[in-house]
Amino acid sequence: MVSIDARTRRRSDVRALNAEEVVTDLLPGLVSAHGRIAADGVRALKIGALDVTVADQRFSLTTGGDDLVVSTGAHGQGLSVSMDEDALSDVLQDLSTLAWANMMGRLRIDNGSLEDLARWDPVVRALRDGEPACARPPDVRDRHGSPLDLQHGFRLDDDPDDIGQFLAQAGYLHLRGVFTADEMAAVSSELDAAIDAAERDDGQSWWARTADGWYPARILGFNRKSSTLRELLRSPRFGTITSLVDDDLVQDDVDASDMAEGLLKKVGVVEGISDVSWHKDCGPGGHSYGCSGLTVGIQVTGADRRTGELGVMAASNRANIPGLHIADDFRLPRVSLPTEVGDCTIHCSCTMHMSRPPETAERRVVYTGSSLAPLPEDAQLGPSEEVRREYRAALDGLGRGTSGRPAFDRLELPG
Ligand SMILES: [Zn+2]
Repeated sequence: MVSIDARTRRRSDVRALNAEEVVTDLLPGLVSAHGRIAADGVRALKIGALDVTVADQRFSLTTGGDDLVVSTGAHGQGLSVSMDEDALSDVLQDLSTLAWANMMGRLRIDNGSLEDLARWDPVVRALRDGEPACARPPDVRDRHGSPLDLQHGFRLDDDPDDIGQFLAQAGYLHLRGVFTADEMAAVSSELDAAIDAAERDDGQSWWARTADGWYPARILGFNRKSSTLRELLRSPRFGTITSLVDDDLVQDDVDASDMAEGLLKKVGVVEGISDVSWHKDCGPGGHSYGCSGLTVGIQVTGADRRTGELGVMAASNRANIPGLHIADDFRLPRVSLPTEVGDCTIHCSCTMHMSRPPETAERRVVYTGSSLAPLPEDAQLGPSEEVRREYRAALDGLGRGTSGRPAFDRLELPG
């Protein structure tokens, strides 16, 4: 059975935790269950103590011998943060990572850096869920036990078991020639129309700035604006993508939901969200409730080293490492995925990935995806389409005032 289902929690179990019960009850319980695994993570990540101030409580996490130790009061050295009870409750139930809580203004770093904080996220996951942090890189093997060629591109008529195995093991796929150049040209001109119609703060677009000024870099709900795209998303070719693993993957409503986004990546973006440095899509949190879903990139233009190709870390979907603001000490193979018009890239929500900024020509791509069918208890508990739409639109604000060129220097792709 080839599965990408890594879920260990149910949304129906989520409740509001108060700081006092966290300190007196929950943390000591987690330490006795997973303290050694978490302490291994502290050593692997070479991090010191974490001091937390929340409501009127102060506690610190540090190692003592082979174990993690939770003590009241401040340790006084290393990373120190303050947050409210809601943020602590969310972090301890995997609804937010520490790094994301900081980026959303829910957690303040009193001493230390965002990178220090991001390195604590795998340790929190180890403590919470018993999953070793930053352990040895997982093997990546085919169905017969041989190492996979990480650069291999499949076609839709290849053996689906081989394709599914690659996806589950490596966390990504390159599918060649899924759509035709004519189909992509039609999608491209419908993207032009959507870009022409977009307005700043319309709640349906993200904007980026080049030397020529601001432009709509991402059209949200592009499926509702492109009839060609809707047709392709309903095609048996696209349907094949959700049947490569044995899990029950579901696609949102092609007509009614915002299930696809159209991106125009211009050369020379200096502000706004356009190309994103290394991250996991579950980096903000929620891994244990939803991973793995799949994100599919439909290549409206081709992309290579100079025109904005995707980069992935092989097997990062199976590794408990920071999913945001990555540090550079994980020994996972970095793979670049040059594509041609009509190809699709696929990655798991747990797979570390990035896109290069295009240097010589603009790039166009449509992102869509599918998620694991909700567990029966959770079927009605996900956020509504309206809430998801508002959340997605609000992310445009994160791009304002931020450099459009991400920091790739520390962890460059090969080639
Ligand atoms: Zn994940």
